[in-house]
Order: sequence, then structure tokens, then C-alpha cells
Amino acid sequence: MIVTIDGPAGTGKTTIARSVAEKLGYDYFDTGAMYRAVTYKVLQNKIDLSNPEQLTPFLESFNFEIRSKNSTKRYFVDGEDITETIRSADVTSHVSEVSANATIRQALVRVQREFGAVKKAVFEGRDMGTIVFPKADVKIFLTARPSVRAERRYLELKDSNAQTTEEKVMQGLLERDHFDSTREVSPLVQAEDAHLVDTSDLTLEQVIERVMALIPS
Ligand code: C5P
Repeated sequence: MIVTIDGPAGTGKTTIARSVAEKLGYDYFDTGAMYRAVTYKVLQNKIDLSNPEQLTPFLESFNFEIRSKNSTKRYFVDGEDITETIRSADVTSHVSEVSANATIRQALVRVQREFGAVKKAVFEGRDMGTIVFPKADVKIFLTARPSVRAERRYLELKDSNAQTTEEKVMQGLLERDHFDSTREVSPLVQAEDAHLVDTSDLTLEQVIERVMALIPS
């Protein structure tokens, strides 16, 4: 059984995927964390994405690991805990560009499908219901008004980044959405058979309730 949750930034995908998975007794997979982890390493190793001689060995040796602790997950690359680092402004501002690379997507999609073949899971990202799991049992597409999404992201970020403002968050979010939606490979689009849930005026509990109601027991 596979449930996919796609949508733009700030719609609550991660929190909702985690809660729904917990209620169902399924695993959950935050594919954005994988793209962020690759981005972190690309920046650290100064990989030239247009050079296959650099990119191919880099991807072959990319060692991403998820460790579960109670209901939370921590992410590791080459043994380094990068759970917080991958949320940094630097990674966030480069992740869309790195994620638009077809070779990188091919490598990550393979891992995501392998995981989906052996687990009952809730997968969240941008292309889960369209490209990675076109035959998923239930597909959800979350959306919300940009102002609502920016406010949510700002509240998450303001304690760790005193320089940020709601306007800056909104600008970054809209740029990332535009890039993600217009790229050639696996753009962010709603799958034809996905259920659309607008979370703008709903509480977290109400969104979870709506999503749960769409999943057959
Ligand atoms: O979900 P999150 O905001 O952490 O995702 C970060 C970025 O990773 C997105 O803006 C997008 O560029 C990329 N991404 C993707 N495909 C996915 C998940 C994330 O391209 N399935």
C-alpha cells in the first residue's frame, strides 16, 4: 500500500505525512530530505553538475541513511548527521537547481522505488504521484495560499534565523515553486487522479482527518 502526498513548499506535507503514517502504522519517506542531502554534498564537494566525470562517481558513492528514533527520523550522509544542516538557507536556495538534474533524479527515484517495493509507506515530495509511484493506491495533492505557506515557513524558521522576514520567506518560496513547477524533468504538477486538499483555512488536525478519510481501511 502506497500513499503519495505532493505539493508546493509550506503546505504541511512533512508533518501530515508523518502523522498519517503513524495513524496507519506505515513508514513515511520525506523525499525532499534526500534532494536536500544531495544538494548539501554537491555544495560541499563543489561538484560540477554538467560534468558526468564528476557527477557519476559522486552519485555512486553518495551514502544516504535514514535512522528512526521513536516517531522521528534523522538523516545521515557518510555517517554525518545532517538533519538540521539540510534546512539551512544555503541548501534551500540551491536545492531546486540540483533537483532539476535528470541524472540525480534517476538515482534518487531508484532508491525511492526500492523502498516502496518492500514497505507500506506514505511518500511525500513533488513527483510521487506522477512519476515515482504512478500506480499509488491513494494520491493527495496539498495546496495553500502563498501568504499562508509563507507565514507557516516563517514561523518555523524565525528562531534559527533572526535575519529572515516573512517577505523574504515568501519570495524564496515562490521562486522555488516556480522553478520546481516549470522544470523539464518531473515538474511539480498535480496527478490527474490525485485528491486536491486546500489546507489554507484548515487546522493540522482537520487536514489529517481529510486525508485519513480518503484512505480505505
Ligand atoms: O519538500 P522540501 O521543501 O524539503 O523539498 C526541497 C526541494 O527538493 C524542492 O523545492 C524540490 O526542488 C526538491 N524535490 C524534488 N522532488 C521531490 C522532493 C523534493 O524535486 N520529490
